[in-house]
Amino acid sequence: MEIPLETHLHQLPADEVVKLLDSDSKTGLELFEIQARQERFGPNAIPVRRGRGPLLTFLLQFHQPLIYILVAAGGITAALHEWIDAGVIFAVVLVNAIIGFLQESKAAKALEALAKMTVTEASVLRSGEVHKIPSVELVPGDIVVLQSGDKIPADLRLFRCRDLQVDESTLTGESVPVQKNPEPLPAVTPLAERCNLVYSSTLVTFGQGRGVVFATGGKTEVGRISEMVSTADIMQTPLTRKIARFSHLLLIVILVLAGITFGVGVLRGESAFDMFMAAVAFAVGAIPEGLPAAVTITLAIGVGRMARRRAIIRKLPAVETLGSTTTICSDKTGTLTVNQMTVREIYSAGRRYQVTGSGYDPDGHIKANADAGDAADNASVKECLQAGLLCNDSTLVQKEGRWSVNGDPTEGALLVSALKTGLDERQVAQQWPRLDSIPFESQHQYMATLHNRGAGSSRLVYVKGAVEVILSKCKSALDPRGHTVALDAAAIHADLEEMASEGLRVLAFAKGEMPAEATAIGHSDIANLTFLGLQGMIDPPRPEAIQAVRACHNAGIRVKMITGDHPVTARSIAKKLGLDGAASDAARSPLVMTSHDLAEKSDQELIDIADRVAVFARATPEQKLRIVRALQANGHVVAMTGDGVNDAPALKQADIGVAMGVGGTEVAKESADMILTDDNFATIEAAVEEGRGVFDNLTKFIVWTLPTNLGEGLVILAAVFAGVTLPLLPVQILWINMTTAVLLGLMLAFEPKELDIMRRPPRDPKTPILDGMLIVRICIVGLILLIGAFGSFEWALGQGFSDAAARTVAVNVFVMVELFYLFNCRSLTKSMFALGLFSNRWIAIGVTSMVALQLAFTYVPFMNHMFHSAPIGWDAWWRILLTGVAAYVIIGTEKWFRRLWTPHRNVRLADNP
Ligand code: ATP
Repeated sequence: MEIPLETHLHQLPADEVVKLLDSDSKTGLELFEIQARQERFGPNAIPVRRGRGPLLTFLLQFHQPLIYILVAAGGITAALHEWIDAGVIFAVVLVNAIIGFLQESKAAKALEALAKMTVTEASVLRSGEVHKIPSVELVPGDIVVLQSGDKIPADLRLFRCRDLQVDESTLTGESVPVQKNPEPLPAVTPLAERCNLVYSSTLVTFGQGRGVVFATGGKTEVGRISEMVSTADIMQTPLTRKIARFSHLLLIVILVLAGITFGVGVLRGESAFDMFMAAVAFAVGAIPEGLPAAVTITLAIGVGRMARRRAIIRKLPAVETLGSTTTICSDKTGTLTVNQMTVREIYSAGRRYQVTGSGYDPDGHIKANADAGDAADNASVKECLQAGLLCNDSTLVQKEGRWSVNGDPTEGALLVSALKTGLDERQVAQQWPRLDSIPFESQHQYMATLHNRGAGSSRLVYVKGAVEVILSKCKSALDPRGHTVALDAAAIHADLEEMASEGLRVLAFAKGEMPAEATAIGHSDIANLTFLGLQGMIDPPRPEAIQAVRACHNAGIRVKMITGDHPVTARSIAKKLGLDGAASDAARSPLVMTSHDLAEKSDQELIDIADRVAVFARATPEQKLRIVRALQANGHVVAMTGDGVNDAPALKQADIGVAMGVGGTEVAKESADMILTDDNFATIEAAVEEGRGVFDNLTKFIVWTLPTNLGEGLVILAAVFAGVTLPLLPVQILWINMTTAVLLGLMLAFEPKELDIMRRPPRDPKTPILDGMLIVRICIVGLILLIGAFGSFEWALGQGFSDAAARTVAVNVFVMVELFYLFNCRSLTKSMFALGLFSNRWIAIGVTSMVALQLAFTYVPFMNHMFHSAPIGWDAWWRILLTGVAAYVIIGTEKWFRRLWTPHRNVRLADNP
């Protein structure tokens, strides 16, 4: 088979294209043909061009202001024949670049791996059966079945369409969906107007269709222009950008101060060389160079933790935003509930029946209520069950003795209830073969099928869906003997309310007729129906969702249910989930708001009321967008779940769009910031918890690292202004910064979440990272470092220590204070003892390694040579240790006072936010 790319496929009739590709539009490729084609055409994956290669990533590590300063300093030091210092400076530059490169590659790889976890799937017809396979396995000639919400997996020539509309904006930039049509087109038709072709990576926004694959992987349109889709800079978030801006500003201030240091010293008559070294020491010390890397690493660790808890982050900023979430709007079915439906009650012709049995096991009975008589004698019940069986796209499967559903669980439950009356699925399907169908879409809330009743007879239509919708289309009803009678809508509604108030999800069933020659069915044909009955199914709340809702309330996060289901059912489920507590003043406001109420409210009215509503029922996807906007207008940071194609705008509008990994459409996943691999509400709560943890750890790192820079800057400034020997040399400052950042500071990224993390109110994203309290703490530690290092340096000189030994004392004071202060930083408010001494084993590893390195720095001759250090004795060590302990005690006391003054930080929030 030759792929006829050069033949303009859009000109040819569809069946000719299928033939050219050696395929069959009715059965697809045979399974045994697939492997040969896969070997020949390779995987259907677009070769992703990385934003930058490893070499560039490495070289870019040198593209930092700090490195420029270091390289200049190294160059000048070398010019002055200070070879060792120059060597150390260049070695530090290199080591810094290597560490930066390794860390960046590791973080990027972790994120890439996460991206790969979300596999795109395609429905493909092979050997006469529709299979769901990963899109990478598609080959030319495969017949792909498309429906709304799908991402098109390869370039296809369509041969069947039903209202198929495709959003091709990824390819053409045109955001209005294009209507597709399989008819051949003139040769000159430009790419964007070839309505009989669909292109890989575009999205089906409406309808259904079938097409044959003619190009895969790099051969597809999008593959050919893949430079356009090279990976964006995935490592950036608002916070990293804020920190980058802060670092640049700081750099300018530091350079100016370094210039002043140099000028003041020289004017005092110091040697230009000494003052140059002092200025370099000042600059190197004061720049928080480890900060951007630490932020990226902490975020990456957070992303990994979230993935382990089944939340895949698609956009890095979401990690930050999650921690600030104030409202979660969640779908009901499958997210808050288990999505395992079992029909429990049937209502038909004024009578109620109970259904026994559990799960999808078709073993059970339909029992009549005392006054209802036998179900077998009731023609309308039988037809109601038959409608559920025929107007159905799912199948039941039994694996290892367990029954499960292939397809929609709601429909699975209807199969089970039909089988419980002894209806034979195959026999019924043969007796009334299906000619056409209108699949269920949440915006229409019903599904319909058209059946052949035999030559000459009118066609039979079965419809099932939301009760109000079906009833509005019914003109009559069936009585128990199968006769058509007048419709008593009021009685049906009364029964519906009763069933729904027990939390049952209720579907209505009806039948209609079409002329004998009809072969297709459209929405306009759904009218003048005869009502058959109601079936009510249970879908219990997920136990873990009940706990997660409680956890959210404790964390000051409101949970709102947005569902397509009936308001009474939704209210009952909301009660079981404890959601009514979310509407703090439930008594004053409606707990449940319906689509109808929503439509009547102006935007401003919705803003006024949105906070108080706990359940939005029968809400359309379009209304989700209004709800998100109204909540955001009230200052909320909103996480919104969605699975359907129409949810995409709301997912994009939400601060955190959450898509369902199992039941969600590709369109929803594309628009989301986060994907739940288990579709479970509890996972959102877990991700919020991790998001808060990440932010906590970032703040801890910043609060830990900045005092070092402040202290080093102050020590140098003080020495120059006082005209005394520098207590720290540039290489020593480099040593302190490099080793402590990696061995001490970074360990905070592994700090477990604090126990009360979900008992605090959400962080306002507008507040600065450091509040006044933390800035004061940073200044206190900076001063301790200044006094401790300067004081012990002067003491050592006074004791007759050499300059090198005195500086070794000063360096050790810095490291020891940072080491003890690290324990203070394990929590911003609590004492280390409250956290558990050994809850972060990385700290123990880091601290032990740091002590070993300091001993080497002090006693190993080679290190003495490199870093101008010298051995010191016990008299110095106990002072060093004491300064460290003093720093811990001072900050511990400061935290203790803060706890007394601001007790709210530790107080558990009330259950009702
Ligand atoms: P969620 O709560 O997650 O929004 P939902 O299942 O309650 O999900 P939809 O899927 O939009 O919401 O369903 C809305 C209504 O449409 C249901 O209450 C039911 O009456 C009806 N319905 C659901 N599934 C089907 C189906 N397969 N065929 C016909 N009607 C359906």
